[in-house]
Amino acid sequence: MTLSTPRRPRIAIAGMAIESSAYAAHRADHRDFHTSTGDALVARYPFLAPASPLREAAEWLGVFYARSIPGGAVRTEVYEDYCERIVTGLAALHAERPLDGIYLDVHGAMSVVGMDDAEGDLVTRVRGVVGTDVLIGATMDLHGNISPRFFDQVDLPTCYRLAPHEDAWETRERAARNLVAQVRVAQLRDGARPVRAWVKVPILLPGEKTSTRVEPARSLYASLADVERRAGVLDASIWIGYAWADEPRCHASVIVTGHEADVVRAEAEGIARHLWSVREDFTFVGPPGTLADGVAAALAATETPYLVSDSGDNPGAGGSGDVTWTLTRLLGMPELTGEDAPLVYVASIFDAAAIEELARHAVGDEVVVVAGARVDNRVSGPVRIAGTLLSLTAGDPHAGRIAVIAVGGLRVIVTEFRKAFHAAGDFRALGLEPTEARAIVTKIGYLEPTLYDLARGWTLALTPGPVDQDLERLGHERIARPMFPFDAFDADPDLTARVSA
Ligand SMILES: [Zn+2]
Repeated sequence: MTLSTPRRPRIAIAGMAIESSAYAAHRADHRDFHTSTGDALVARYPFLAPASPLREAAEWLGVFYARSIPGGAVRTEVYEDYCERIVTGLAALHAERPLDGIYLDVHGAMSVVGMDDAEGDLVTRVRGVVGTDVLIGATMDLHGNISPRFFDQVDLPTCYRLAPHEDAWETRERAARNLVAQVRVAQLRDGARPVRAWVKVPILLPGEKTSTRVEPARSLYASLADVERRAGVLDASIWIGYAWADEPRCHASVIVTGHEADVVRAEAEGIARHLWSVREDFTFVGPPGTLADGVAAALAATETPYLVSDSGDNPGAGGSGDVTWTLTRLLGMPELTGEDAPLVYVASIFDAAAIEELARHAVGDEVVVVAGARVDNRVSGPVRIAGTLLSLTAGDPHAGRIAVIAVGGLRVIVTEFRKAFHAAGDFRALGLEPTEARAIVTKIGYLEPTLYDLARGWTLALTPGPVDQDLERLGHERIARPMFPFDAFDADPDLTARVSA
């Protein structure tokens, strides 16, 4: 007897990824996104390298993908343009020969001007052209949000299990592997599809309190691998959610996928109860303090460099990137701007007009320039920088031209366009050796790996801005209530799972 070999699965790749703060004045434009299509999009995934097992297991078709570093809400016309490219691309492929699967690469915390639940809208439009038979797998960030319509239409949603996201590619690979396997199952078992269970958990916390470098998130997320190995389970995920948007979908979620409804329901509810039971234990991953606390600690430190996170305008979480609150205060501290002040790198403010003005000078010139707060002046206005132009370099793919201005010991970094200085290499590229600095003040929350490794001391400065760590200062109005830690709970919340039909 011979078994018939099922047709090689036909899987399209598409997506749009950005994390958007509703409290940022920045608006994400075409310029903010890097896009790819066709073979170049397939080549983005290392596990789909030619001749790799996953590449061979299916026919992968790159449709359209756009990715930006976090920022403010996406302009409507930009979202519509990208959405149209995804939907028409999928429709054309599906008409040519039916697709079996869609690999959706999204973040989960995209905001679009005037729209709620952007990823839910995207997946609804995708379903609209491919119908209900095609399996959709989504790979996401654990800071994404899940809405009812997103849950209802995505067969295999999953997300990272580490923050910082050192498992980003591993997660994407797991999502691709599960999608291929479930398409195979559907082919062999006449359309059989996985089931999934979702529990909404009324918790909304910043990523800086839920890093998996520390408890309780470390053990909580580590437990997912054990759940995943249980019979009847395919995947288990916790979305801790995104705190800097103000939509009903902003809260933590647990989803378990598998083949047995009773099993996935029980596992999802178990993880949700675990998450709820440790809610009071989430605390800042680094020592929190004021900016002044951070500067004082840096000046007193015996080991350097000392890192100070200017967390309120972290572009990596949705900050605008030109908030001047911190720089204004640093420039007002004589202990940092005097003749013998220690070396302190300050990253960064973006301002194309200021760069234009600096470009009229030669390196070594004394310059006076007003910079920042062109986009986001909600907490602080433009700042006057008077110092020596140390360098002006061009060619950074994100930042364009970058100037370094010396003001006493400060090395103030001004960029043409938005950029996050989250890696040691970002400073080295400007000739600023991180290990030579007494302190590095940068717009970041928890430290990304290379800065984490070289930091000899650290303050998570709770500065104001679009991604303020003090959530209650922001004034959410549209999230579901009650919500921890905003409200008191008289009784435990309903942690019953919703199971896919
Ligand atoms: Zn994230």
